[in-house]
Amino acid sequence: MTSGKVYLIGAGPGDPGLVTVRARELIERADVIVYDYLANPALLDWAKADAEKLYVGKQSGMHSIPQDEIEELLVDRARKGLQVVRLKGGDPFVFGRGGEEVSELQIDKIPFEIVPGVTAALAAAAYAGIPLSHRDFSSSITFLTGHENPDKQTLSIDFSKYGKIGGTLCLYMGLGQLPRILKELKAGGLSGQMPVGIIQWATLSRQKSVYGTVDSILGDLERSGIGTPAMIIIGEVVAQRTKTEWFEGRPLFGKRIVVTRAREQAGQLSQLLSAQGAEVIELPFISVQQHFDEKLVSEVFAGIAVYEWIIFTSANGVKHFFDLFYKAYDDIRCLGPMRIAAVGAATAREIHKHKLKVDLIPRKANADALAEELIQNEGVESVQILVVTGNQNRESLVQRLESDEGRAIVDTLPLYKTSKTNLSQHPAAERFRQEGADAVLFTSASTVKSFVDQHAALVLASDARRPVFGSIGPLTTKTLQELKLPVAFESTEASLDHFVVETIAYLAKP
Ligand code: SAH
Repeated sequence: MTSGKVYLIGAGPGDPGLVTVRARELIERADVIVYDYLANPALLDWAKADAEKLYVGKQSGMHSIPQDEIEELLVDRARKGLQVVRLKGGDPFVFGRGGEEVSELQIDKIPFEIVPGVTAALAAAAYAGIPLSHRDFSSSITFLTGHENPDKQTLSIDFSKYGKIGGTLCLYMGLGQLPRILKELKAGGLSGQMPVGIIQWATLSRQKSVYGTVDSILGDLERSGIGTPAMIIIGEVVAQRTKTEWFEGRPLFGKRIVVTRAREQAGQLSQLLSAQGAEVIELPFISVQQHFDEKLVSEVFAGIAVYEWIIFTSANGVKHFFDLFYKAYDDIRCLGPMRIAAVGAATAREIHKHKLKVDLIPRKANADALAEELIQNEGVESVQILVVTGNQNRESLVQRLESDEGRAIVDTLPLYKTSKTNLSQHPAAERFRQEGADAVLFTSASTVKSFVDQHAALVLASDARRPVFGSIGPLTTKTLQELKLPVAFESTEASLDHFVVETIAYLAKP
Protein backbone atom coordinates (compact mmCIF):
# COMPACT_ATOMS: atom_id res chain seq x y z
CA MET A 1 0.00 0.00 0.00
CA THR A 2 1.30 3.48 -0.82
CA SER A 3 1.80 5.49 2.28
CA GLY A 4 -0.62 8.26 2.98
CA LYS A 5 0.53 11.78 3.57
CA VAL A 6 -0.98 14.98 4.87
CA TYR A 7 -0.31 18.28 3.09
CA LEU A 8 -0.97 21.28 5.24
CA ILE A 9 -1.62 23.95 2.66
CA GLY A 10 -2.15 27.69 2.81
CA ALA A 11 -5.26 28.48 0.76
CA GLY A 12 -4.41 32.18 0.63
CA PRO A 13 -6.74 35.05 1.43
CA GLY A 14 -9.57 34.19 -0.96
CA ASP A 15 -8.79 34.87 -4.61
CA PRO A 16 -7.88 31.45 -6.07
CA GLY A 17 -5.19 33.15 -8.17
CA LEU A 18 -3.22 33.79 -4.99
CA VAL A 19 -2.41 30.22 -4.01
CA THR A 20 1.00 28.76 -4.81
CA VAL A 21 1.67 26.54 -7.81
CA ARG A 22 2.56 23.79 -5.34
CA ALA A 23 -0.82 24.15 -3.63
CA ARG A 24 -2.64 23.76 -6.91
CA GLU A 25 -0.64 20.67 -7.89
CA LEU A 26 -1.44 19.02 -4.59
CA ILE A 27 -5.13 19.92 -4.73
CA GLU A 28 -5.29 18.38 -8.20
CA ARG A 29 -3.79 15.13 -6.93
CA ALA A 30 -5.52 14.85 -3.57
CA ASP A 31 -7.75 11.93 -2.59
CA VAL A 32 -9.19 13.83 0.35
CA ILE A 33 -9.53 17.58 0.91
CA VAL A 34 -10.34 18.88 4.37
CA TYR A 35 -11.11 22.60 4.23
CA ASP A 36 -12.48 25.29 6.44
CA TYR A 37 -14.47 28.47 6.34
CA LEU A 38 -11.84 30.84 5.00
CA ALA A 39 -10.53 28.53 2.27
CA ASN A 40 -12.33 29.53 -0.92
CA PRO A 41 -14.47 26.55 -2.05
CA ALA A 42 -13.66 27.53 -5.66
CA LEU A 43 -10.25 25.87 -5.06
CA LEU A 44 -12.09 22.55 -4.95
CA ASP A 45 -12.91 22.89 -8.64
CA TRP A 46 -9.32 21.82 -9.28
CA ALA A 47 -9.77 18.56 -7.41
CA LYS A 48 -10.36 15.17 -9.01
CA ALA A 49 -14.04 14.47 -9.51
CA ASP A 50 -13.96 11.59 -7.04
CA ALA A 51 -11.90 13.31 -4.34
CA GLU A 52 -13.55 13.32 -0.92
CA LYS A 53 -14.26 16.92 0.11
CA LEU A 54 -14.86 17.53 3.78
CA TYR A 55 -15.94 20.89 5.15
CA VAL A 56 -14.90 21.31 8.77
CA GLY A 57 -15.44 25.05 9.17
CA LYS A 58 -18.03 26.95 11.08
CA GLN A 59 -21.57 26.83 9.81
CA SER A 60 -23.56 29.99 10.48
CA GLY A 61 -24.83 29.86 14.02
CA MET A 62 -23.14 26.53 14.69
CA HIS A 63 -19.81 25.49 16.09
CA SER A 64 -17.08 24.15 13.92
CA ILE A 65 -15.96 20.53 14.20
CA PRO A 66 -13.75 20.26 17.30
CA GLN A 67 -10.02 20.45 16.59
CA ASP A 68 -9.30 16.94 17.90
CA GLU A 69 -11.88 15.46 15.55
CA ILE A 70 -10.25 17.23 12.59
CA GLU A 71 -6.88 15.84 13.64
CA GLU A 72 -8.35 12.33 13.95
CA LEU A 73 -9.83 12.67 10.50
CA LEU A 74 -6.47 13.59 8.96
CA VAL A 75 -4.73 10.68 10.68
CA ASP A 76 -7.47 8.23 9.73
CA ARG A 77 -7.42 9.08 6.03
CA ALA A 78 -3.63 9.13 5.83
CA ARG A 79 -3.48 5.69 7.48
CA LYS A 80 -5.72 4.42 4.71
CA GLY A 81 -2.92 5.31 2.30
CA LEU A 82 -4.64 8.42 0.97
CA GLN A 83 -3.13 11.76 -0.07
CA VAL A 84 -4.81 14.23 2.24
CA VAL A 85 -4.87 17.97 1.62
CA ARG A 86 -5.64 20.09 4.64
CA LEU A 87 -6.57 23.54 3.28
CA LYS A 88 -6.46 26.49 5.61
CA GLY A 89 -7.21 30.11 4.83
CA GLY A 90 -4.14 32.35 4.45
CA ASP A 91 -1.04 30.64 5.81
CA PRO A 92 -1.44 27.49 7.94
CA PHE A 93 1.09 28.66 10.53
CA VAL A 94 -0.35 32.14 11.05
CA PHE A 95 -3.17 31.97 13.59
CA GLY A 96 -4.38 28.83 11.89
CA ARG A 97 -3.69 26.11 14.47
CA GLY A 98 -1.38 24.47 11.92
CA GLY A 99 1.12 23.79 14.68
CA GLU A 100 -1.36 21.71 16.62
CA GLU A 101 -2.28 19.63 13.59
CA VAL A 102 1.35 18.95 12.78
CA SER A 103 2.10 17.85 16.38
CA GLU A 104 -0.68 15.31 16.17
CA LEU A 105 0.61 13.99 12.85
CA GLN A 106 4.08 13.60 14.36
CA ILE A 107 2.73 11.69 17.34
CA ASP A 108 0.97 9.34 14.95
CA LYS A 109 4.04 9.13 12.67
CA ILE A 110 2.12 10.37 9.63
CA PRO A 111 4.33 11.93 6.94
CA PHE A 112 3.46 15.54 6.19
CA GLU A 113 4.43 18.55 4.11
CA ILE A 114 3.70 22.22 4.75
CA VAL A 115 2.94 24.67 1.94
CA PRO A 116 2.85 28.33 2.97
CA GLY A 117 0.14 30.69 1.80
CA VAL A 118 -0.40 34.43 1.45
CA THR A 119 -1.51 35.47 4.89
CA ALA A 120 -4.44 37.89 5.29
CA ALA A 121 -2.33 40.81 6.56
CA LEU A 122 -0.16 40.83 3.45
CA ALA A 123 -3.12 40.34 1.13
CA ALA A 124 -5.29 43.00 2.75
CA ALA A 125 -2.43 45.51 2.71
CA ALA A 126 -1.63 44.86 -0.95
CA TYR A 127 -5.26 44.99 -2.05
CA ALA A 128 -5.81 48.20 -0.13
CA GLY A 129 -2.54 49.72 -1.39
CA ILE A 130 -1.02 50.04 2.10
CA PRO A 131 2.77 49.51 2.24
CA LEU A 132 3.25 47.54 5.47
CA SER A 133 6.75 48.85 5.92
CA HIS A 134 8.06 52.24 4.84
CA ARG A 135 11.52 53.70 5.25
CA ASP A 136 10.13 56.92 6.71
CA PHE A 137 7.24 55.59 8.77
CA SER A 138 7.50 51.99 9.79
CA SER A 139 10.34 49.57 10.23
CA SER A 140 8.52 46.79 12.04
CA ILE A 141 5.39 44.79 11.33
CA THR A 142 3.57 43.05 14.15
CA PHE A 143 0.93 40.36 13.65
CA LEU A 144 -1.52 40.20 16.55
CA THR A 145 -4.65 38.22 17.15
CA GLY A 146 -7.77 39.44 18.89
CA HIS A 147 -8.67 35.89 19.95
CA GLU A 148 -6.27 33.03 20.37
CA ASN A 149 -8.76 31.04 18.37
CA PRO A 150 -12.04 31.98 16.77
CA ASP A 151 -14.04 29.84 19.22
CA LYS A 152 -12.53 31.45 22.28
CA GLN A 153 -14.05 34.71 23.41
CA THR A 154 -11.55 35.51 26.14
CA LEU A 155 -8.62 37.79 25.63
CA SER A 156 -5.39 37.06 27.39
CA ILE A 157 -3.08 39.32 25.41
CA ASP A 158 -2.18 42.59 27.14
CA PHE A 159 -2.50 45.04 24.27
CA SER A 160 -1.17 48.00 26.27
CA LYS A 161 2.31 46.50 25.69
CA TYR A 162 1.88 47.19 21.98
CA GLY A 163 0.84 50.82 22.42
CA LYS A 164 4.41 52.07 22.14
CA ILE A 165 5.95 49.38 19.97
CA GLY A 166 5.67 51.60 16.86
CA GLY A 167 5.66 50.40 13.27
CA THR A 168 2.65 48.66 11.78
CA LEU A 169 0.19 46.56 13.76
CA CYS A 170 -1.87 43.96 11.87
CA LEU A 171 -4.72 42.64 13.91
CA TYR A 172 -6.35 39.33 12.98
CA MET A 173 -9.75 38.33 14.40
CA GLY A 174 -9.95 41.69 16.08
CA LEU A 175 -13.40 43.08 15.27
CA GLY A 176 -15.25 41.48 18.18
CA GLN A 177 -12.92 42.93 20.79
CA LEU A 178 -11.97 46.10 18.98
CA PRO A 179 -13.27 48.67 21.53
CA ARG A 180 -11.32 46.99 24.29
CA ILE A 181 -8.19 46.48 22.19
CA LEU A 182 -8.11 50.14 21.14
CA LYS A 183 -8.61 51.26 24.71
CA GLU A 184 -5.69 49.16 25.90
CA LEU A 185 -3.47 50.31 23.03
CA LYS A 186 -4.21 53.93 23.93
CA ALA A 187 -3.58 53.25 27.60
CA GLY A 188 -0.20 51.89 26.46
CA GLY A 189 0.62 55.14 24.65
CA LEU A 190 -0.82 54.80 21.13
CA SER A 191 -1.98 58.17 19.74
CA GLY A 192 -5.70 58.63 19.14
CA GLN A 193 -4.74 60.23 15.83
CA MET A 194 -2.95 57.10 14.55
CA PRO A 195 -4.45 56.03 11.20
CA VAL A 196 -6.42 52.77 11.05
CA GLY A 197 -7.67 50.78 8.06
CA ILE A 198 -10.06 47.86 8.19
CA ILE A 199 -10.38 45.58 5.17
CA GLN A 200 -13.06 42.92 4.97
CA TRP A 201 -12.99 39.94 2.56
CA ALA A 202 -9.70 41.13 1.11
CA THR A 203 -8.93 40.06 -2.49
CA LEU A 204 -12.52 39.02 -3.25
CA SER A 205 -15.04 40.96 -5.26
CA ARG A 206 -16.91 41.63 -2.04
CA GLN A 207 -13.89 43.36 -0.47
CA LYS A 208 -14.84 46.44 1.53
CA SER A 209 -12.68 48.84 3.46
CA VAL A 210 -12.98 51.71 5.87
CA TYR A 211 -10.40 54.19 7.14
CA GLY A 212 -10.18 56.44 10.17
CA THR A 213 -8.08 57.04 13.25
CA VAL A 214 -7.85 55.18 16.55
CA ASP A 215 -10.37 57.68 17.95
CA SER A 216 -12.79 57.69 15.02
CA ILE A 217 -12.67 54.13 13.73
CA LEU A 218 -15.40 52.57 15.88
CA GLY A 219 -17.93 55.09 14.53
CA ASP A 220 -16.57 54.80 10.99
CA LEU A 221 -16.81 51.03 11.21
CA GLU A 222 -20.40 51.07 12.37
CA ARG A 223 -21.44 53.38 9.52
CA SER A 224 -19.59 51.24 6.97
CA GLY A 225 -21.52 48.07 7.73
CA ILE A 226 -18.27 46.10 7.57
CA GLY A 227 -18.08 42.82 9.49
CA THR A 228 -15.94 39.70 9.74
CA PRO A 229 -13.62 38.46 8.42
CA ALA A 230 -11.59 41.62 8.48
CA MET A 231 -7.98 42.69 8.85
CA ILE A 232 -7.28 45.72 11.00
CA ILE A 233 -4.12 47.66 10.15
CA ILE A 234 -2.89 50.36 12.50
CA GLY A 235 0.03 52.67 11.82
CA GLU A 236 1.33 55.71 9.92
CA VAL A 237 1.59 53.57 6.79
CA VAL A 238 -2.20 53.47 6.52
CA ALA A 239 -2.09 57.16 5.61
CA GLN A 240 0.59 56.35 3.01
CA ARG A 241 -1.71 54.10 1.04
CA THR A 242 -1.84 54.51 -2.73
CA LYS A 243 -4.05 57.34 -3.98
CA THR A 244 -5.44 55.13 -6.72
CA GLU A 245 -7.42 52.24 -5.39
CA TRP A 246 -6.10 49.71 -7.85
CA PHE A 247 -8.47 46.98 -6.67
CA GLU A 248 -11.66 48.51 -5.28
CA GLY A 249 -11.38 51.38 -7.76
CA ARG A 250 -11.72 49.24 -10.90
CA PRO A 251 -14.73 50.28 -12.98
CA LEU A 252 -16.92 47.22 -12.38
CA PHE A 253 -15.86 46.63 -8.79
CA GLY A 254 -18.81 45.65 -6.61
CA LYS A 255 -20.99 44.86 -9.64
CA ARG A 256 -22.41 41.39 -10.10
CA ILE A 257 -22.85 40.44 -13.75
CA VAL A 258 -24.48 37.40 -15.32
CA VAL A 259 -22.84 35.93 -18.42
CA THR A 260 -25.33 33.89 -20.41
CA ARG A 261 -23.11 32.22 -22.98
CA ALA A 262 -22.59 28.48 -23.32
CA ARG A 263 -20.12 27.03 -20.84
CA GLU A 264 -17.46 26.42 -23.49
CA GLN A 265 -17.69 30.03 -24.69
CA ALA A 266 -18.22 31.96 -21.47
CA GLY A 267 -14.58 32.11 -20.37
CA GLN A 268 -13.42 35.04 -22.44
CA LEU A 269 -16.28 37.39 -21.56
CA SER A 270 -16.07 36.37 -17.90
CA GLN A 271 -12.36 37.11 -17.85
CA LEU A 272 -12.79 40.51 -19.45
CA LEU A 273 -15.43 41.42 -16.87
CA SER A 274 -13.48 40.13 -13.86
CA ALA A 275 -10.43 42.04 -15.02
CA GLN A 276 -12.54 45.18 -14.63
CA GLY A 277 -13.47 44.12 -11.10
CA ALA A 278 -16.87 42.52 -11.67
CA GLU A 279 -18.15 39.51 -9.80
CA VAL A 280 -19.28 37.16 -12.57
CA ILE A 281 -22.04 34.57 -12.41
CA GLU A 282 -21.97 32.20 -15.37
CA LEU A 283 -25.45 30.99 -16.25
CA PRO A 284 -25.12 28.98 -19.45
CA PHE A 285 -28.56 29.39 -21.01
CA ILE A 286 -27.53 27.49 -24.10
CA SER A 287 -25.18 24.65 -24.79
CA VAL A 288 -23.28 24.11 -28.00
CA GLN A 289 -22.49 20.60 -29.16
CA GLN A 290 -20.83 19.16 -32.20
CA HIS A 291 -23.60 17.80 -34.41
CA PHE A 292 -23.27 16.88 -38.07
CA ASP A 293 -24.28 14.51 -40.82
CA GLU A 294 -21.30 12.28 -41.52
CA LYS A 295 -22.31 11.61 -45.11
CA LEU A 296 -22.65 15.31 -45.83
CA VAL A 297 -19.27 16.05 -44.28
CA SER A 298 -17.52 13.41 -46.42
CA GLU A 299 -19.23 14.68 -49.54
CA VAL A 300 -18.23 18.25 -48.85
CA PHE A 301 -14.65 17.29 -48.00
CA ALA A 302 -14.34 15.12 -51.12
CA GLY A 303 -15.35 18.06 -53.27
CA ILE A 304 -13.76 20.80 -51.18
CA ALA A 305 -11.64 22.04 -54.10
CA VAL A 306 -14.70 23.21 -56.03
CA TYR A 307 -15.56 26.02 -53.65
CA GLU A 308 -14.35 29.51 -54.41
CA TRP A 309 -15.44 30.84 -51.05
CA ILE A 310 -15.85 29.32 -47.64
CA ILE A 311 -17.89 31.35 -45.15
CA PHE A 312 -17.68 30.89 -41.42
CA THR A 313 -20.54 32.36 -39.40
CA SER A 314 -19.07 31.73 -35.93
CA ALA A 315 -15.87 30.89 -34.09
CA ASN A 316 -17.55 27.67 -33.08
CA GLY A 317 -18.10 26.67 -36.67
CA VAL A 318 -14.39 27.24 -37.35
CA LYS A 319 -13.39 25.04 -34.41
CA HIS A 320 -15.62 22.15 -35.41
CA PHE A 321 -14.71 22.47 -39.08
CA PHE A 322 -10.98 22.15 -38.48
CA ASP A 323 -11.51 19.40 -35.93
CA LEU A 324 -13.13 17.31 -38.62
CA PHE A 325 -10.86 18.51 -41.38
CA TYR A 326 -7.69 17.40 -39.60
CA LYS A 327 -9.25 14.01 -38.95
CA ALA A 328 -9.81 13.61 -42.67
CA TYR A 329 -6.57 15.18 -43.99
CA ASP A 330 -3.09 15.70 -42.65
CA ASP A 331 -2.15 18.54 -44.98
CA ILE A 332 -3.67 22.00 -44.81
CA ARG A 333 -3.19 22.36 -48.59
CA CYS A 334 -6.05 19.88 -49.08
CA LEU A 335 -8.27 22.85 -48.32
CA GLY A 336 -7.49 24.18 -51.79
CA PRO A 337 -7.02 27.76 -52.95
CA MET A 338 -10.45 29.00 -51.86
CA ARG A 339 -11.04 32.41 -50.34
CA ILE A 340 -12.27 32.74 -46.79
CA ALA A 341 -14.90 35.01 -45.24
CA ALA A 342 -15.67 35.43 -41.54
CA VAL A 343 -18.70 37.10 -40.02
CA GLY A 344 -16.67 39.04 -37.45
CA ALA A 345 -13.40 39.51 -35.61
CA ALA A 346 -13.79 36.61 -33.17
CA THR A 347 -14.47 34.20 -36.02
CA ALA A 348 -11.49 35.58 -37.94
CA ARG A 349 -9.22 35.09 -34.92
CA GLU A 350 -10.17 31.43 -34.77
CA ILE A 351 -9.30 31.08 -38.47
CA HIS A 352 -5.94 32.84 -38.00
CA LYS A 353 -4.97 30.12 -35.52
CA HIS A 354 -4.58 27.86 -38.55
CA LYS A 355 -2.27 30.37 -40.24
CA LEU A 356 -4.94 31.14 -42.80
CA LYS A 357 -5.70 34.67 -43.90
CA VAL A 358 -9.26 35.91 -43.96
CA ASP A 359 -10.18 37.62 -47.22
CA LEU A 360 -13.38 39.25 -46.07
CA ILE A 361 -14.78 40.48 -42.77
CA PRO A 362 -17.82 42.73 -43.18
CA ARG A 363 -17.65 46.16 -41.62
CA LYS A 364 -20.72 45.33 -39.52
CA ALA A 365 -20.37 41.95 -37.87
CA ASN A 366 -23.53 40.18 -38.98
CA ALA A 367 -24.57 37.66 -41.60
CA ASP A 368 -26.62 40.15 -43.66
CA ALA A 369 -23.71 42.55 -43.96
CA LEU A 370 -21.49 39.65 -44.98
CA ALA A 371 -23.89 38.62 -47.77
CA GLU A 372 -24.23 42.24 -48.86
CA GLU A 373 -20.47 42.82 -49.14
CA LEU A 374 -19.88 39.54 -50.95
CA ILE A 375 -22.56 40.35 -53.48
CA GLN A 376 -21.62 44.01 -53.97
CA ASN A 377 -17.84 43.88 -53.85
CA GLU A 378 -16.93 40.42 -55.00
CA GLY A 379 -19.77 39.32 -57.26
CA VAL A 380 -20.93 35.79 -56.59
CA GLU A 381 -22.92 34.86 -59.67
CA SER A 382 -22.46 31.12 -60.36
CA VAL A 383 -19.77 31.04 -57.70
CA GLN A 384 -19.72 27.92 -55.49
CA ILE A 385 -19.80 28.85 -51.84
CA LEU A 386 -19.61 26.71 -48.72
CA VAL A 387 -21.31 28.09 -45.59
CA VAL A 388 -20.13 26.48 -42.35
CA THR A 389 -22.66 27.08 -39.55
CA GLY A 390 -24.65 25.70 -36.66
CA ASN A 391 -28.30 24.78 -36.68
CA GLN A 392 -29.54 28.36 -36.32
CA ASN A 393 -29.66 31.72 -38.06
CA ARG A 394 -28.25 30.65 -41.38
CA GLU A 395 -31.32 30.86 -43.61
CA SER A 396 -31.16 34.54 -44.43
CA LEU A 397 -27.48 34.47 -45.38
CA VAL A 398 -28.00 31.54 -47.74
CA GLN A 399 -31.18 33.04 -49.18
CA ARG A 400 -29.47 36.33 -49.90
CA LEU A 401 -26.57 34.68 -51.68
CA GLU A 402 -28.87 32.49 -53.75
CA SER A 403 -31.39 35.24 -54.53
CA ASP A 404 -31.59 37.10 -57.84
CA GLU A 405 -29.21 39.66 -56.41
CA GLY A 406 -26.50 37.07 -55.78
CA ARG A 407 -27.16 33.93 -57.83
CA ALA A 408 -24.46 32.00 -56.03
CA ILE A 409 -24.44 28.21 -55.71
CA VAL A 410 -24.43 27.61 -51.98
CA ASP A 411 -23.85 24.46 -49.92
CA THR A 412 -24.46 24.59 -46.21
CA LEU A 413 -22.47 22.50 -43.76
CA PRO A 414 -24.05 22.55 -40.28
CA LEU A 415 -21.54 21.26 -37.74
CA TYR A 416 -22.98 22.04 -34.33
CA LYS A 417 -26.22 22.37 -32.51
CA THR A 418 -27.20 25.10 -30.09
CA SER A 419 -29.77 23.94 -27.57
CA LYS A 420 -31.41 25.39 -24.51
CA THR A 421 -30.17 24.19 -21.14
CA ASN A 422 -32.16 23.56 -17.99
CA LEU A 423 -30.72 25.59 -15.16
CA SER A 424 -33.28 24.86 -12.46
CA GLN A 425 -30.81 22.71 -10.48
CA HIS A 426 -27.69 24.72 -11.36
CA PRO A 427 -25.84 26.10 -8.28
CA ALA A 428 -25.22 29.41 -10.06
CA ALA A 429 -28.97 29.77 -10.64
CA GLU A 430 -29.58 29.36 -6.92
CA ARG A 431 -27.06 32.11 -6.27
CA PHE A 432 -28.75 34.33 -8.84
CA ARG A 433 -32.16 33.76 -7.22
CA GLN A 434 -30.79 34.65 -3.78
CA GLU A 435 -28.50 37.55 -4.60
CA GLY A 436 -29.63 38.79 -8.01
CA ALA A 437 -27.24 40.81 -10.16
CA ASP A 438 -26.62 44.30 -11.52
CA ALA A 439 -26.76 43.24 -15.17
CA VAL A 440 -27.48 40.23 -17.35
CA LEU A 441 -25.49 40.27 -20.59
CA PHE A 442 -27.07 38.59 -23.60
CA THR A 443 -24.72 37.57 -26.39
CA SER A 444 -27.25 36.00 -28.76
CA ALA A 445 -30.95 35.72 -29.51
CA SER A 446 -30.90 32.09 -28.38
CA THR A 447 -29.70 33.01 -24.88
CA VAL A 448 -32.57 35.49 -24.60
CA LYS A 449 -35.16 32.89 -25.61
CA SER A 450 -33.80 30.37 -23.16
CA PHE A 451 -33.77 33.01 -20.39
CA VAL A 452 -37.45 33.74 -20.96
CA ASP A 453 -38.33 30.03 -21.09
CA GLN A 454 -36.65 29.49 -17.74
CA HIS A 455 -38.15 32.49 -16.07
CA ALA A 456 -40.02 30.41 -13.51
CA ALA A 457 -36.75 28.90 -12.27
CA LEU A 458 -35.14 32.33 -11.91
CA VAL A 459 -37.55 34.22 -9.67
CA LEU A 460 -35.49 36.56 -7.50
CA ALA A 461 -35.68 36.70 -3.72
CA SER A 462 -37.32 39.89 -2.45
CA ASP A 463 -34.05 41.47 -1.34
CA ALA A 464 -32.01 40.34 -4.37
CA ARG A 465 -30.56 42.93 -6.75
CA ARG A 466 -32.73 43.54 -9.84
CA PRO A 467 -30.60 43.33 -12.96
CA VAL A 468 -30.77 45.43 -16.12
CA PHE A 469 -30.39 43.71 -19.49
CA GLY A 470 -27.53 44.41 -21.88
CA SER A 471 -27.43 43.28 -25.50
CA ILE A 472 -24.45 42.59 -27.77
CA GLY A 473 -26.14 43.87 -30.93
CA PRO A 474 -29.28 44.58 -32.97
CA LEU A 475 -30.46 40.97 -33.43
CA THR A 476 -30.23 40.21 -29.74
CA THR A 477 -31.92 43.52 -28.93
CA LYS A 478 -34.78 42.70 -31.32
CA THR A 479 -35.39 39.40 -29.56
CA LEU A 480 -35.30 41.08 -26.15
CA GLN A 481 -37.85 43.63 -27.31
CA GLU A 482 -40.10 41.00 -28.88
CA LEU A 483 -40.09 39.16 -25.58
CA LYS A 484 -40.87 42.36 -23.67
CA LEU A 485 -37.58 42.60 -21.81
CA PRO A 486 -36.39 46.20 -21.47
CA VAL A 487 -32.96 46.76 -23.05
CA ALA A 488 -30.81 49.03 -20.89
CA PHE A 489 -27.89 49.22 -23.30
CA GLU A 490 -26.72 47.76 -26.58
CA SER A 491 -23.14 47.33 -27.73
CA THR A 492 -22.49 49.44 -30.83
CA GLU A 493 -19.98 46.86 -32.05
CA ALA A 494 -20.54 43.13 -31.93
CA SER A 495 -17.33 42.30 -30.09
CA LEU A 496 -16.84 41.16 -26.53
CA ASP A 497 -14.30 43.90 -25.80
CA HIS A 498 -16.72 46.53 -26.89
CA PHE A 499 -19.60 44.93 -25.01
CA VAL A 500 -17.54 45.24 -21.83
CA VAL A 501 -16.80 48.90 -22.57
CA GLU A 502 -20.53 49.59 -22.97
CA THR A 503 -21.31 47.65 -19.81
CA ILE A 504 -18.85 49.82 -17.89
CA ALA A 505 -20.31 52.99 -19.42
CA TYR A 506 -23.82 51.99 -18.40
CA LEU A 507 -23.16 50.60 -14.92
CA ALA A 508 -20.76 53.33 -13.92
CA LYS A 509 -23.50 55.93 -14.42
CA PRO A 510 -24.37 57.59 -11.13
N1 SAH B 1 -4.34 31.60 8.74
C1 SAH B 1 -5.05 32.79 8.33
C2 SAH B 1 -5.66 33.53 9.50
C3 SAH B 1 -6.76 32.80 10.16
S1 SAH B 1 -7.46 33.71 11.46
C4 SAH B 1 -4.12 33.70 7.54
O1 SAH B 1 -2.92 33.45 7.51
O2 SAH B 1 -4.59 34.67 6.95
C5 SAH B 1 -8.85 34.41 10.68
C6 SAH B 1 -8.69 35.89 10.53
O3 SAH B 1 -7.88 36.18 9.42
C7 SAH B 1 -9.97 36.64 10.25
O4 SAH B 1 -10.69 36.89 11.43
C8 SAH B 1 -9.44 37.91 9.65
O5 SAH B 1 -8.92 38.76 10.61
C9 SAH B 1 -8.28 37.38 8.85
N2 SAH B 1 -8.64 37.12 7.45
C10 SAH B 1 -8.60 35.95 6.80
N3 SAH B 1 -8.96 36.10 5.52
C11 SAH B 1 -9.22 37.41 5.35
C12 SAH B 1 -9.62 38.21 4.24
N4 SAH B 1 -9.84 37.68 3.04
N5 SAH B 1 -9.79 39.53 4.44
C13 SAH B 1 -9.58 40.09 5.64
N6 SAH B 1 -9.20 39.39 6.71
C14 SAH B 1 -9.02 38.06 6.57
